[in-house]
Parts: sequence; C-alpha cells; structure tokens
Amino acid sequence: MTRNANKNNNECEKCWIFDLNQFKMITDSILDENTLVLEINQNYEVSVLMDYDVSLENGILTFKDFVNDNSKSATVLTGSLKTGILNKMSQSISEGLLNKTTNRRTYYITEPTPLIGHTAFGLIDRGTNVIQIRGLSGCNISCPFCSVDEGIHSKSRKNDYYVDMDYLVSEYEKIAEFKGYNKLEAHLDGQGEPSLYYPLPDLVQNLNEINSKNKGIVSIQSNGVHLTEKLIDDLEVAGLHRINLSINAMDEKFSKGLSGNKNYDIERIMEIAEYIKNSKIHLLIAPLLLPNYNDEEFKKVLDFAVELEQKTPQTTINPITNKKNPIVGPQLCLTYQFGRKISKMRVWDFPKFYNLLEFYEKEYLKDGINVDLEVPLHGFFGSHSRKRLPCPFKLNETISVTVLMDGRVNGEVIGASKNRVIQIIDCKTDVNKLIGKRVNVKVLRVKDNVIVGSMVK
Ligand code: SF4
Repeated sequence: MTRNANKNNNECEKCWIFDLNQFKMITDSILDENTLVLEINQNYEVSVLMDYDVSLENGILTFKDFVNDNSKSATVLTGSLKTGILNKMSQSISEGLLNKTTNRRTYYITEPTPLIGHTAFGLIDRGTNVIQIRGLSGCNISCPFCSVDEGIHSKSRKNDYYVDMDYLVSEYEKIAEFKGYNKLEAHLDGQGEPSLYYPLPDLVQNLNEINSKNKGIVSIQSNGVHLTEKLIDDLEVAGLHRINLSINAMDEKFSKGLSGNKNYDIERIMEIAEYIKNSKIHLLIAPLLLPNYNDEEFKKVLDFAVELEQKTPQTTINPITNKKNPIVGPQLCLTYQFGRKISKMRVWDFPKFYNLLEFYEKEYLKDGINVDLEVPLHGFFGSHSRKRLPCPFKLNETISVTVLMDGRVNGEVIGASKNRVIQIIDCKTDVNKLIGKRVNVKVLRVKDNVIVGSMVK
C-alpha cells in the first residue's frame, strides 16, 4: 500500500497511534464495533477485523492499551500490531474489494497482471492514435439499453475490476512509446462510468503529461451523474481536453427512465453541461437515438446542444487537428449479445440514421443555424491509423494460460500468457479450482489484441 509523503511523523512520536491517512488509497474509514471498514479509492470497501482494543477518530487508529506509553516494549508491540493490520488490509484488498456502486466483488489489478487483452479493464489499441483507457468497470446508473448490461441490476456482470493508477499510466506510456508519442489521444471509456475512477484528476494529469508534449490529448466519456463543478475544475487543471457527455432525453421523467435510476436529475446534468461549456474543456454532447423510442427527445437534446453552442461558442482548439471540435456527436443505438434491449426500439441501419441527421442539418439551416451533424466523428477528432501492437497469438492455436481470477460474466475466468490477459469463456469447472493453474486454451478471438479463448483438455 502506497503511503502519502510526510504523513507518518506523528506515528514515530506516538507509538500508540496508527494514522490511516498516510495511505493514499484509503479515502474514508469507520469502526463498526471490532470491524474496521475502509473505503478504498472512494468507490470500494474492505472490512478488517480488529483483534485489539482500538478507537478511531479522523482516520487515526489508537491502541487504547498503549496510550501515553512510549516505552521500548510498547513501541515494539504496537509496531507488530500495525504490521498485522497492514497485512490484513493488503490481504482483504487482494481477496476482493466490494464495489459500493454495483455491490460486486472487485479485483484490484496491478503488476504483474497484463493490461492488454480484456475489454473490462486495462488498455485497448485498435490500430489508431486513440488508446482506450479502462481504469475500472461498473456504472452508477442502469440504462435499459446498455450494451454491456451495466449497473446495479445487471444480470450478467458478476465481478468488477479497478486498475492501480501508477501501473495503468506506466503501461500506457509503453504503448505511447511504441506508437511514437505523436498526436495520441488517451480516451477514458469502458464498461461503466469512467468518471468514477479515483483519483481521476491525477490519472488525467499523468496521461496528459505523456501526450501533451507531442500534440496529444486526454478525453473521457461520461453520463454526467458523478460530475461536480469541483471535479470539472480539477480536470481542467489536469489538462483534460474533452468530455463526451451522454444525454439521451430532456424530459424529466423520460430521462429518468432512460437512465434506469430514480435519482437521475436532467436539470443537474444540464447545469453540468453548461459548466463544462464555460470551462477550457471541450464539451461534446453525445445523444443516442433509440429509433421509435426517444426520437423526439433525441431531437430535443440536439436543440439543447445547438443552443448551448450559440450561447457560448466553442473556442478550444484540438491540437491533433488544429481545429475546433463539434458540439454534438449523435449516436445510433445498436443491439449486442450481452446488452439490454428496449423492446419498443426498432433497429436502424446507418444510412437511415445519416439521412435523418442530414434532414435535421437542413432544418437548422432554414433557421439560419449551421450545425455539423456528420458522423462518425473520427475525422473531426483527427483519429487516424497508427501501427498496432503485435498480437502474440494466432486464431485457433492452442496456448498455455495461467488462470488469475474470476471473470466478468458467468462461465468466464481470466488468465494470462505472453503479456496478455485472456478471457476464457464457456468454463464449466469451479473457478476456485482453476485459479493459479495452467490450462490449455484454444484462441477464438485476437482482433485488436482482445483475446478470447475456450478451455481444451
Ligand atoms: S451510462 Fe453507459 S455503461 Fe452506464 S448503464 Fe448507461 S449505457 Fe451502460
């Protein structure tokens, strides 16, 4: 567990106290009778049983039996008690955190678990200048159309993952180096809400330090629920270039329904959108069209974005293109194997969607408003092909994999081989019997270095 600098001086003077504030990842703590409950990186929790008589105040644990005893024996004894607590804390974290948002077990991912190979966490290189950063999984809302079946009511997701920030940044830098550093975009997205990552401003700042030297940027997707003025200020200082903000309806009830969360507050999201618009961060409003379901609301979101842009015209220049980015990035809802579906929704093909957008562009033009609704947005953002990380496996080959942990969905375990994580699907064996074992896996997918396989005898 990493310590904050200069936070343990008191501890040297008073052996009977143990200052939990010295650990960066402990963001809160409570003592519930003899159980110490630690909040880890704001979103997670672990419980540690205390075998000693302790009290807790402002993150400082006091060994009651040793108060005001600075003798050598008290120092030795409290020293070993602290080591015991530290060991228990580390063990509890490695055995699994509890995600307070989704109620799921969460694996804390750090070295030597590879970060390339899975879509739920780590890094994804799809052969362009955009590298996807997935620091965590798990979402704070439950959209009924969610393509990855996220949120607290998920039927298919059984575990979450959180990646240690220092490790994430150091592995990102290796890919940045491989790609030649120039004009890279580190894009924070994932199977969940990326803004829940803690410490997000530090992550953005570290990635920005790598990218900004060579005209690169850092961007993030968000549903907006967790964003606050303070967080936006911090992200602005950290150098965040763009927030892709999902808004799918303007009506109060409709938007609540589309978020699957009774606390979703569209008025608040609109305030946040306006706040971002007035910052140095570029705001991209990204409404999703669910044909035959939110058609009118989708148009209202476009109107909201257009009005916002007229009120506060965008000034941020994208260093990759040397141009301004558009205000709106419309998206079309598709259906996915593990995703949720709204039964009333119709499936459209892209030409039909593009025609609708073209129609809206013309409508705006009639009112004298010039809005670019062209999608996809790759051209606007300057996304382009870049050399890909090589994949160490071939399709259909059989490889030897060490099983590391339980998977994201039922029947899946996660293993590692040749600096890749491998999603092993259709697994019939009890996961606890597999962890730590080597198994043979037939490779079923290698595209974009996302590796999926199934176990063979
Ligand atoms: S915000 Fe995104 S990840 Fe979260 S439930 Fe909605 S669609 Fe899924």
